Amino acid sequence: MKRDGALESLWQSEIKVYGHENDVNRTHLDVVIVGAGITGVTTALNLQKKGFDCMIIEAANMGHGTTSGTTAHLNTFFDASYDEVIDDFGLDAAKLLALAAGEALEIIHGNVVEFNIDCDYSPRTAYLFSLDEEQEKILDDLVEGSRKAGIEMNETGINPFGIPSTKVVEIPGQAQFHPIKYIKSLMGEYVKDGGRFVEGCRVAGVEKEGDHLVVSTQQGNIVCDHVIYATHLPPGKNIMHFRNAPYRSYVVALKLRDNNYPQALGYDLYEAYHYYRTHVINGEEYLIAGGEDHKTGDIENTNECFERLVNYVGRYFDIERVAYRWSSQFYESADGLPYIGHLPGSPDNVYCATGYTGNGMIFGTLAAKTLSDLVATGDSIYKKLFDPARTKPLASFTNFVKEGADVVKHLLFDRFSVDKIRTLAALENGQGKVVNYEGYSLAVYKDDTGKEHILQSDCTHLHCTVKWNSEEKSWDCPCHGSRFGINGEVLTGPAVKKLKKPLNPE
Ligand SMILES: Cc1cc2nc3c(=O)[nH]c(=O)nc-3n(C[C@H](O)[C@H](O)[C@H](O)COP(=O)(O)OP(=O)(O)OC[C@H]3O[C@@H](n4cnc5c(N)ncnc54)[C@H](O)[C@@H]3O)c2cc1C
Repeated sequence: MKRDGALESLWQSEIKVYGHENDVNRTHLDVVIVGAGITGVTTALNLQKKGFDCMIIEAANMGHGTTSGTTAHLNTFFDASYDEVIDDFGLDAAKLLALAAGEALEIIHGNVVEFNIDCDYSPRTAYLFSLDEEQEKILDDLVEGSRKAGIEMNETGINPFGIPSTKVVEIPGQAQFHPIKYIKSLMGEYVKDGGRFVEGCRVAGVEKEGDHLVVSTQQGNIVCDHVIYATHLPPGKNIMHFRNAPYRSYVVALKLRDNNYPQALGYDLYEAYHYYRTHVINGEEYLIAGGEDHKTGDIENTNECFERLVNYVGRYFDIERVAYRWSSQFYESADGLPYIGHLPGSPDNVYCATGYTGNGMIFGTLAAKTLSDLVATGDSIYKKLFDPARTKPLASFTNFVKEGADVVKHLLFDRFSVDKIRTLAALENGQGKVVNYEGYSLAVYKDDTGKEHILQSDCTHLHCTVKWNSEEKSWDCPCHGSRFGINGEVLTGPAVKKLKKPLNPE
């Protein structure tokens, strides 16, 4: 199965590409769902169960996006901790969020049972641990907030990961699974009952015509009543692009010499935090560790992130070898909660689901629940909490301002300054770099045979300058997270057009 990066994730090794049909031509559909990750596939199945005639349209293949780059911890606590949610949104909102988290876990477990899905689903206890005084203070606040919201957290003396900690808290009732096996089975159920699924077809946008919607795709237009963007950011230009910031996170799957693989989920409280769990693939057990998050495009030599991660984890575990390593992209919302609901500035009946941070297995499942309820009835108990048009009710938009400022910095700073003239000859094989060359800002990659692939470095979404990602071999846009392959093809939206060749503009 293909993913939107050059490195192979643990989940790709088992699963082949799902079969697809090529025909988008259909007179009138109830719902078009754009994107076949956990959000799109779960939403389509939910809507189909409610009697809607659906089509999933996927630009690449099922699981091409973050769902194959995830680590698939299933948690009832989030990157935005309950104490922060209480401060920013109030206690009632935090309680509703805790209820939603529990419901998402039940939905996933319910699907596993109902469809008899073999996806290595395992209940797990999670452990949050502080490594110093500062982290301990954060942990204390987090535990207090979680308890107020209704999430059970208990102090314990043991850290099953063997990492010396000043305090350890256990959270029962969590879980893990194989994300691609899970969505592949959901897709199987959906297709079996007549659901339509088109792969290799990018959606460019949607417009209202009369009383219906027209979705424009690479393979022609589709008429429907509802459109759900399960794509993180929707294509085109939208307020969501300024309320979400793209980040990359790094993961390694490790073989350990002592074969001591803790059967638990673990997290420290660094900013960015490290996360741990184990999984058996083809009879081999691995420790999966992640972290080293940064704003997309901020680091070009991404090998350094993997090295830092392995060195850090090596302090506590006896690493025999790094079996897999990969990175993937998530989106952080302006206020910590996801945006799930009507897409602001678009016609009625157009929806989005984004800003999941590192909790998209749960929020993707909740998006499916919320959006299918909105389509079916116009309402959902989570409508207000996740409303994409909300303004943060209590606190100021600190992150929003910060991320917004970053976007502006990249727009002005990257395009018109700094990158000094470098000659193409300065590149080694396998390296890429944005260079100024006779007045052009160019994204230049020299492949392993020494052939140069030269593109304009302007992102085709909103014209920020793309940055090289040395390990995933991609050009990543720091503004809104669009990513392109070495020949300019779109790997990740919101861009819908490939990077242009410098002398042959399309
Ligand atoms: C390293 C890492 C670890 C993580 N670990 C966890 C974890 O442990 N637990 C957890 O809950 N969450 C985790 N997350 C977050 C979670 O994996 C994601 O939020 C989730 O997978 C998002 O699923 P999705 O279906 O919304 O998006 P995706 O899986 O990215 O799917 C979007 C799909 O839309 C398609 N698409 C995009 N644009 C278009 C278009 N214009 N036309 C057609 N198709 C289009 C893409 O090709 C893609 O297949 C992690 C994230 C990262 C980066």
